[in-house]
Amino acid sequence: MKIKRLDIIGFKSFVDKVSLDFQHGITGVVGPNGCGKSNIVDAIRWVMGEQNARHLRGRAMEDIIFGGSESRKPHGMAQVSIVFDNSAKICPPAYKDYAEIMVTRRLYRNGDSEYLINKTACRLLDITELFMDTGVGARAYSIIEQGKVGMLISAKPEERRSLIEEAAGVTKFKARKKTALRKMDATKQNMVRLGDIISEVR
Ligand code: ATP
Repeated sequence: MKIKRLDIIGFKSFVDKVSLDFQHGITGVVGPNGCGKSNIVDAIRWVMGEQNARHLRGRAMEDIIFGGSESRKPHGMAQVSIVFDNSAKICPPAYKDYAEIMVTRRLYRNGDSEYLINKTACRLLDITELFMDTGVGARAYSIIEQGKVGMLISAKPEERRSLIEEAAGVTKFKARKKTALRKMDATKQNMVRLGDIISEVR
């Protein structure tokens, strides 16, 4: 899935709406220290579902909302939308008829948050499943930050394996297997309880 556009409002240093169009080929972002280059990567990671503020270089999730400057008041909400070109149709079947997929995430200062796919409200789980096995996602290999190559070289075999599994497209099946096993476990416990109740009422 190729990123076509990124719209950012009230996220970290991006106080007013900023739209970035990603053309074919390589896009480079240049600017002086502290101008917000890494904040763009944080915005991409956040909109794709990152839940850990530390992976966004903050202490609490609220830190991603524009916190004010000498001339501007703090914002009450941060919003990021990312638009993917879906012409290769590698997304889940539910979205295969869309030429573009837009994922939006909003966070309000009171802690409320919203997720949308193509402007329709959805769950975080829908976004996670949308990106599963595409190589795109909050922690997927499409984001290679400083130090990640070194980390991969020194990673444990199991950690490296998870990356290969994502590229091979088996991550979503592993996630579904985990959910199915959890349900089977709950059913087994219900069966045991049912057996107890039957023997009590006999
Ligand atoms: P470098 O080249 O040094 O790595 P950079 O261009 O990647 O810098 P970033 O780390 O993206 O810069 O941006 C840092 C700037 O973002 C700082 O000026 C910081 O004050 C600002 N910033 C971060 N979070 C917020 C926030 N919540 N509200 C306002 N500004 C913020």
